[in-house]
Amino acid sequence: MRMSAGLVRVGGPAFVKTEWRTHPDDTILISPKQVAHRPGWCDHMTEDDVQPPRWGWIPNPPPGLWERLSTASPATATAGNPRRRAVRRCTNCELNLAQG
Ligand SMILES: [Zn+2]
Repeated sequence: MRMSAGLVRVGGPAFVKTEWRTHPDDTILISPKQVAHRPGWCDHMTEDDVQPPRWGWIPNPPPGLWERLSTASPATATAGNPRRRAVRRCTNCELNLAQG
């Protein structure tokens, strides 16, 4: 019996967002590595991982905070661990949000 060749998908299947119970969609989550994530938009962590003191977050961020986030415009957590600061966005979250 001949095995069929594997299908090569360009770009892969569409990312499926994980629904989180603990943080609303617009929350900005800040990792110990100073990376900002959005709930459910990447595979880098689960909602159970996002706990102080390792993580901080910003519930109800002001409009544009996510888009502006950079080393020149860092964001500081207001909940969880308030000492967490983000200097860049997670590229997966950014990409998946843009496609989502
Ligand atoms: Zn992410």
